[in-house]
Amino acid sequence: MVTGWVEHDVMASELDLVIAGGGPAGVMAGLLFARAGCTVQVLEKHADFFRDFRGDTVHPSTLELLRELGLLEELLKRPHDEVTTLTARVADRTITIADTRHLPVESRFIALMPQWDFLDFLTQEARHYPGFSLRMQAEAVDLVIENGRVGGVRLSDGEEVRARLTIAADGRSSVLREKASLPKNDLGAPIDVLWFRLPKGPTVTNQTGATFGAGTLVVEIDRGDYWQCAYVVPKGAADEIKDKGLAAFRDDVARAAPELASVVDTLQDWDQVKLLSVSLDRLTRWWRPGLLAIGDAAHAMSPVGGVGINLAIQDAVAAANILAAPLARGENVDPLLHKVQDRRMLPTRVVQGAQKAVHDRVLTPLVLRKAVLDKVPFVLRLFDRFPVLRRIPARLVGLGVRREHIRSPDAGIRRAGAEPPPPSRPRGSSRSPRKTARS
Ligand SMILES: Cc1cc2nc3c(=O)[nH]c(=O)nc-3n(C[C@H](O)[C@H](O)[C@H](O)COP(=O)(O)OP(=O)(O)OC[C@H]3O[C@@H](n4cnc5c(N)ncnc54)[C@H](O)[C@@H]3O)c2cc1C
Repeated sequence: MVTGWVEHDVMASELDLVIAGGGPAGVMAGLLFARAGCTVQVLEKHADFFRDFRGDTVHPSTLELLRELGLLEELLKRPHDEVTTLTARVADRTITIADTRHLPVESRFIALMPQWDFLDFLTQEARHYPGFSLRMQAEAVDLVIENGRVGGVRLSDGEEVRARLTIAADGRSSVLREKASLPKNDLGAPIDVLWFRLPKGPTVTNQTGATFGAGTLVVEIDRGDYWQCAYVVPKGAADEIKDKGLAAFRDDVARAAPELASVVDTLQDWDQVKLLSVSLDRLTRWWRPGLLAIGDAAHAMSPVGGVGINLAIQDAVAAANILAAPLARGENVDPLLHKVQDRRMLPTRVVQGAQKAVHDRVLTPLVLRKAVLDKVPFVLRLFDRFPVLRRIPARLVGLGVRREHIRSPDAGIRRAGAEPPPPSRPRGSSRSPRKTARS
């Protein structure tokens, strides 16, 4: 069915969908809408996906979605690491707080894979669909508004990309959500994160965990031959830390996580330390006619729990489940946009509620008020005593709430041999030697 606005607004050359942002939300949405037969253009402002500040976790819920799409085996051929337990080191004790090995899915682990590899995999798959295109170095700076309705985006060079639907997947500093004046509820975040790598020797099992010290917290993500470290600092404190000098920072890290003391000297320049500003907010309205926000653009996630990527992907799946078929048929999807928000608001609230509780009850006392954890808190002792409890955080982090399944149609237009040139690897990147490609 073709509705009124489609007849008078849409030109034959217009896209069905333009997506601003080539992160997990945008690329997954691009793949699913193209698979359903839509013409889709994903715009990414950077020249490549090679940035080190993205989370690299692919959770069981996302692995399950890829299984439903028939892509899991192919994804896991790419080098990755498999994490089944998460630990907390407190008062010289290591407590396992999550164990994914009992989850009711095929892949009972968190895959650690550089996000550029994951995004590259999804775009390679998406390119099998004739309607899909990805434009790098294409920054959306404004919305195109026609008769009060969003009709596409304007790029930084002035070009207009018009589409029947625009998805804002441009992350937590989303320009498009600002331009659309979508109302926002800011939940506040008391922390920022200093992010750096330190070398490590390979171990048989993955050692990802968090070290709680005297007023300090360091998260160490085991990437085989290096630690990806997150040193948690009070919001806005990074400049003060830098003013004290790199030597003082190295001492702080070594005190906070003694297991890193022998390698912390490899930090020789502040260029090796990236500041990641943490925010926690959500739109109270995710859409307006012609526009839908998903992923961090709809709800900026804290790194707590490392679940933002998966929530963003679930948003993309829900958006495609609700909108892809009618959009492909040429229908006006404006009346359906609220359904995506209705569907995804509950998981967003639950996850952000949990993140805020951790901000307020753990991180604020620890990092802002410099509380000293000289013994293992009661709750953590329970995890040690009753291992079955480890299944609860594993389920919340690994599968989340109101898990999505692929329901958007496959229009049967996948072509073989649409492989783009293989990606070049960023200098200095390395791969885990522990769990490598499956054949
Ligand atoms: C310090 C930190 C660590 C984190 N660690 C993890 C983790 O380990 N696991 C996890 O699941 N989550 C983690 N998160 C959360 C996670 O990064 C986000 O929730 C997730 O990336 C959201 O995906 P997205 O696709 O919505 O947005 P993004 O990943 O932010 O992607 C947005 C994309 O849009 C592009 N873009 C931005 N503006 C424009 C524009 N105007 N035009 C065109 N393109 C644009 C950006 O370049 C980017 O590629 C972390 C967050 C922080 C702050």
